[in-house]
Amino acid sequence: MRSRTRAMGLIEVLVVCVLLICIASFVLPRYLGGKSADGKTYKAPISMAKDVVCQTNLGTVRQSIAAMAAGDPDYQGVYSLRDVRGLDSAMLKCPVGSEAYQWDSGSQKVHCVHSGHEAY
Ligand SMILES: [Zn+2]
Repeated sequence: MRSRTRAMGLIEVLVVCVLLICIASFVLPRYLGGKSADGKTYKAPISMAKDVVCQTNLGTVRQSIAAMAAGDPDYQGVYSLRDVRGLDSAMLKCPVGSEAYQWDSGSQKVHCVHSGHEAY
């Protein structure tokens, strides 16, 4: 009788462990990134946050250049991102790959060269 009770306890523990593993295979990829058991691929939240920081940095650089152009009647264009006033050096590189933002003086546009950030 006593060993029968112990065996039931072991089966219950195994069932709980299997259920936890099944739940974790669906939930953990959403928090840590990777491919879920249902086949969907998720980016880690910290990676998505860095993507947003990259977009925000590029927006700030563009706004600073637009403000320089609007405030200076003799504005001739920016030849380098170092010419943009009031920007921290950390704001001039991608937070994901630390690549410096590229400035095209011909089109007067700034963009990120990090893979996946070309459209920002
Ligand atoms: Zn970037």
